[in-house]
Amino acid sequence: MGKLVQVNNLDEIVQNLKQFLGKPEDVVLRGKVVNVYVAFQAQTPLLIRTEGQGDLTSFRIGDVSVPAIINTKVQAVLRRKTLQVLRYYYDNDEEIRKHVEKIVGGKWECMVRPTGEKTAGYCGKCPACLIYGFAVQRGGGFNVKSRVEGDVYYATVREEEATYTFTRNAVDEATHTTEQALLQDRAVKPGTVFLGKIALKNLTPAELKLVLYSIASLERIGAVVTHFGRVKTRIIGLIGSMYEVGSGYEAVKELLGSKEPVRGYAEIVKNWAEETPSAVGIIIEGLEDLVRKTIDLRETVENAWSDARVKREVLEKASSGAGKGGKRKK
Ligand SMILES: [Zn+2]
Repeated sequence: MGKLVQVNNLDEIVQNLKQFLGKPEDVVLRGKVVNVYVAFQAQTPLLIRTEGQGDLTSFRIGDVSVPAIINTKVQAVLRRKTLQVLRYYYDNDEEIRKHVEKIVGGKWECMVRPTGEKTAGYCGKCPACLIYGFAVQRGGGFNVKSRVEGDVYYATVREEEATYTFTRNAVDEATHTTEQALLQDRAVKPGTVFLGKIALKNLTPAELKLVLYSIASLERIGAVVTHFGRVKTRIIGLIGSMYEVGSGYEAVKELLGSKEPVRGYAEIVKNWAEETPSAVGIIIEGLEDLVRKTIDLRETVENAWSDARVKREVLEKASSGAGKGGKRKK
């Protein structure tokens, strides 16, 4: 059965989860998963829409409906966080910039959403692209699937208790000016806790550090409007395993209405770690602070870029058939 370990810093996390981490040259995923259990607590009202105005995402747990955050929202914020870190070192660290420009062959730019005329989009070469995936729009090439996979994050309180309806001025999201129109909206109340899991598949040590740091720094979900959407992110625990273990759904089924869902989730994750063959569990209060305070961010960024270069090369070779980078003939 699985074991629980204690750690004091991010390097010890990596040491203990070594067998569940991959190498940049792995093309086939090899049953190496680091499960990250997270709790998001709303600090301000949250707007969590799938559709548009007045919509609120909710899912059923048994016969009860609870607000929920879908993974695409979290994934987008995570990718942005990772890109922010990469950009910071590219802009401010001469050595890192040279390292990067050697890898991408010139100036580096990578954007989550193409803006207007300056359509750069995903570069397909940086750690963010190779970790969170990208699609090649036209021509040959290849698509890379995300190795960060989340599911749904479920609130631990019923929808009717966790939400309220309010009226506000419409805000033009392009110009940020207030219009005359009044809109009805539904928001999740501050204090509401959401539980979920993010599975990190076959990441390298540097990629794991970078993604954990991005998760630990996540402070906003959804909503363009500035006074909405702030969250406190907690990393409840990590389980290294050959496969995905547990989910927010299973946890909330047990913790619906609980006064202490965060503590409850930690207990559940402990049980999952102990019940899973060959698993390694790290369940410590304040893991998000430990990650943020003990990371060597510069070294992590540098290594993540080196891993991205190797991964990109291996993928190019694999996608061009058995050849050595040549084009496949029909
Ligand atoms: Zn990129």
